[in-house]
Amino acid sequence: MSRKIDIEAICAEKGLRITEQRRIIAKVLSESDDHPDVEMLHERASAIDANISIATVYRTVRLFEEAGILERHEFGDGRSRYEAASDAHHDHLIDVESGEVVEFVDDELEELQRRIAEKLGYRLVDHRMELYGVALNRDK
Ligand SMILES: [Zn+2]
Repeated sequence: MSRKIDIEAICAEKGLRITEQRRIIAKVLSESDDHPDVEMLHERASAIDANISIATVYRTVRLFEEAGILERHEFGDGRSRYEAASDAHHDHLIDVESGEVVEFVDDELEELQRRIAEKLGYRLVDHRMELYGVALNRDK
């Protein structure tokens, strides 16, 4: 949710070796708030350094994901999309026509999910909620 997360700083904290290419990919990720996939990331990273290959982007993104720096989503189209892992929880609504991803937080929904888990005998520690929709007003 339009937060700026300094992925490079988090890499340093976690003791990940940061090469120049990884630094660029980290910067691109930090500046993206649209849940890009690997191809989109590659396009943005190679605009900064044309030598960055898509394989490097794949490896780097996997490394960041394994280190808990990135969250991976699959919004129904089979493509993995990424965003910086954040303490500020939010859910996603996906526009099935345009592919646009809208972030939201709804206190009632959070509470409802907590209550459902409790009723089933659990303390809720995490959840994922994805809504898929078509815009009511295309011209907005
Ligand atoms: Zn998000």
